[in-house]
Amino acid sequence: MKFFTFDGNINKKIGIIGGGQLGKMMILAAKNFGCYVTILDPNKNCPASSICDEHIVASFDDKDAIISLANKSDVITYEFEHIDYKTLIELFNNDKKIYPNPHSLKIIQNKYAQKIKLQENNIPIPHFERVKNVNDIKNYANILGYPLVLKASKGGYDGKGNLVIKNIDDIDKNINYIENICDDMFVEQFVNFKFEISVLACRSIDGDIKIYPIAKNIHNDSILHKTIVPANISKNLEQQAKNIASNVMKIFDGVGMFCVELFVTDDKILVNEIAPRPHNSGHFSIEGCITSQFENHIRAILNVPLGSTSLIKPSVMVNLLGEEGFNGDVYIVGVCKALDTENAFLHIYGKKQTIPKRKMGHITVIDDDIKIAEEKADFIYKKIKFISK
Ligand code: ADP
Repeated sequence: MKFFTFDGNINKKIGIIGGGQLGKMMILAAKNFGCYVTILDPNKNCPASSICDEHIVASFDDKDAIISLANKSDVITYEFEHIDYKTLIELFNNDKKIYPNPHSLKIIQNKYAQKIKLQENNIPIPHFERVKNVNDIKNYANILGYPLVLKASKGGYDGKGNLVIKNIDDIDKNINYIENICDDMFVEQFVNFKFEISVLACRSIDGDIKIYPIAKNIHNDSILHKTIVPANISKNLEQQAKNIASNVMKIFDGVGMFCVELFVTDDKILVNEIAPRPHNSGHFSIEGCITSQFENHIRAILNVPLGSTSLIKPSVMVNLLGEEGFNGDVYIVGVCKALDTENAFLHIYGKKQTIPKRKMGHITVIDDDIKIAEEKADFIYKKIKFISK
C-alpha cells in the first residue's frame, strides 16, 4: 500500500496551458474531482473555453500571463509542448508545482535534444545527425543513402516540419525550406517500418508507473488516422515496448501522461518521439479502459493514486478531420449515423472554424470483436463530414 500525503481536499485549482481538445478532455476529467480549472490560450473560442472556470486569453509565451496562471493555480500542467519553458523553469525553481517537469519539457520540445537524451540513455532510435546546410545533408546521404527525413528541431506537429528527401533533386528543390530551418535541424534515417505503435504511460509523483495496452497507429499524410487496441503484437515485442516506456518515464522524470511513439521493423523497435502529455493515440482509453488517459493525468498531478489502465473491450479510434475544400464556420453532416451505432462514442471538439485536415473530433468504437469495432469505425468515418456552408 502506498502512502499518499494527501490532505483530503481533491478539489484543487489546476492551471492548463493550452485550451485545445486535449485541454478540454483534461477539464472533463478534472471536473469529476471538483477541481477549479483555469486555462491559458490565445484563442477566446478554443475548445476548452466552453467548460473551463477561467480563461486567460494570452499568447503561450506571455510571461505575465503564465505568472498570472500560476498565481491562480495550485498546480500547472500543459496540453502541448511548444510553450515557453523559461518562465515555467523560473516558477518551478521557486517551488511552483508544474508537471511534467519543465526542465524535461525544454529537452523534449527540441526534437534534436530529445534524441540526444534518448541516445545517451541507450534507448533505441533511428540514426540521426545534426546538419547545418545543404552540403551536410548531401554528405550524410552519401553515408546512409536515400531516403532521409529532414526534421526541424522545434515547433513541428502532425508531420509539419518534416521533409522526406528521396534523392539529391529533392534537396535542391527544397532549398528555401532548408534555409528557413537551418539554424536548428537534423537528418534522420528513413525507417522502413512494418507498423507504428504507441505506448501511453502515466507516472505518479512518487514513481508509480501505469502503462496502457499498446496501441497500433495508422497515419495518413503524417496525421494520425486510426488507433487499434490491442495492437496484436507478440508478447516479446509488447514487453520491449513497455520497458522502453518505463525507462523513458524515469529518464525524463515524468509525472502525468506521456506517449512514446515507436516504429516496429522486421527485427527492431525504435523510438520515433516522445510527447509529455496525453496523446491523440490514447483517446481510445476514454471508453476503452477503466481509467482514461486524461483522468490518470489529473490523478498524477493531484498526487492521488493512479487508476487501472486495463482494457474494458478492444477499441478502435478514428480521427475526424476538416474536409478538403471547406474553410469557415463548421457544419457537421452524418452525426446520426454515429449516434445510431451501438458502442460508438462520438467526440466533437467544438472548434468553430473548419479547415482542411484540422482535427475536429474523433470516434471510438468498442467491441469484443476488434474486426467489428474497426468496421463500425470505418463506416462512421465515411459518413461524418466537417464542412462549411
Ligand atoms: P510530428 O512530431 O510532427 O508528429 P513525427 O516526427 O512524429 O512528426 O512524424 C510524423 C510521422 O511521419 C510518423 O508518425 C511517421 O509515420 C513518419 N516519420 C517520421 N519520421 C520518420 C522516419 N525517420 N522514417 C519513416 N517515417 C517517419
